[in-house]
Amino acid sequence: MDRLKRKAVLFFWILFVVSVSSYAQQPDSLLLDSLRVEGKVLVKTLSSDLFWGRGYVNRGDSIAADYILSEFDSARLDTVYAHTYTHNVNVFPDTVELAINGQPLRAGVSFLVEPWSPSIKGDFEVQYISIQDFLDDSVWGGKIRDAKDKAIVIDKKEMEGLDPEEIKKLKDIFDYLRFHEDNPAKLTIFLTDEKLTWSVSQKVMGKPTIVLKTNLTGDKLKKVSVHINAELIQNYEARNIVSQFNSAKSDSLIVFTAHYDHLGMMGLDAFFPGANDNASGTSMLISMARRLGMISRDSLDYSVAFIAFGGEELGLVGSKNFVKDSVLDIGKIKLLVNLDIVGTGSEGITIVNANKNTEVVNLITELNDQYGYFDSIQMRGEACNSDHCIFNKKGVPSIYIYTRGGVKAYHDVDDKAETLTLDKYSELVLMLMQLIEMP
Ligand SMILES: [Zn+2]
Repeated sequence: MDRLKRKAVLFFWILFVVSVSSYAQQPDSLLLDSLRVEGKVLVKTLSSDLFWGRGYVNRGDSIAADYILSEFDSARLDTVYAHTYTHNVNVFPDTVELAINGQPLRAGVSFLVEPWSPSIKGDFEVQYISIQDFLDDSVWGGKIRDAKDKAIVIDKKEMEGLDPEEIKKLKDIFDYLRFHEDNPAKLTIFLTDEKLTWSVSQKVMGKPTIVLKTNLTGDKLKKVSVHINAELIQNYEARNIVSQFNSAKSDSLIVFTAHYDHLGMMGLDAFFPGANDNASGTSMLISMARRLGMISRDSLDYSVAFIAFGGEELGLVGSKNFVKDSVLDIGKIKLLVNLDIVGTGSEGITIVNANKNTEVVNLITELNDQYGYFDSIQMRGEACNSDHCIFNKKGVPSIYIYTRGGVKAYHDVDDKAETLTLDKYSELVLMLMQLIEMP
């Protein structure tokens, strides 16, 4: 953008901000509406099937990385680049089939394959082992030995009302069945009536494990047919996408981060869109980058960087590699704000790591008192639950913001753009933009 154009745009941006400030407690409703519409389009795009759930099947993550690169490019900040790193990942690229008593079931809806599972194909006899049997030390070992070459079926619905010690004991036995290759059974099926929640793994371990959502009791399962094709990809090439805008006054940085990766596909049918987690945060980075390009660098007290991380769902792999490879001089970061799951907000926002960052937390509270953005701001202590953690551990002042209220879909096939309300998308973007302009 040439100087004149930038100035003209700056004028309109100031007009927006002035209109925000002159109606204290009442941000400009046109601005709020248009930002929210923009957010809807971005979230819908990033969580569409063109991106394959931004996982590793069909290189969905890489398609998303290209999209973010091009969005950052069109925002015309000073630098845009990709940081490449590698990791292993276990994927389910094609066949994921399960039939119980001859009845085929829907992947992602009725059942999940645990992400570290190896491949398996065949028809298996069932060895149902009750929770009571597992709690009896004179029984469960023999039952597992009897399950040689069969499918062990465990009905977790029988666990209701157990005490914590019993639950701990069961967990240890179940982990043996899931993670150890010397488990004599061919596979383990856990029955549940709870929500199915998937994840993604860098490793292959143990024996295939399936979680099946069903009303059936364990003793009703007679025959299992299963065909799962798993593939461990070694040294998968992934990218973090970075964009920076330099202040005329300082090279000290305010950094906004969000992971763009999600879980991808479990076979050909189960698609995990990841609208809230974390197309929402990724979209906010883009919305902010678009607006930052309209602010004069002379008026900025800090340079600003946006980092869209890959590999968060694999265990913060993108941010770990980013810090390990010293992509940015983290000593220059004055503040890092991580956005992960920011697509709701009807019940307010939560700030993680609030106790260690009172200065910025007070600033946010003041802005909220002035403009009434959120109904409530909850403070949480340290939690290593997203990419901010890696920076926090290195002593970088880092907070993590997520929104509360609305849809409960999480790591499942229902985390879709259609049901994501983006209640406070605009308010959060505006507030973060105000943080940039604070001295
Ligand atoms: Zn996330």
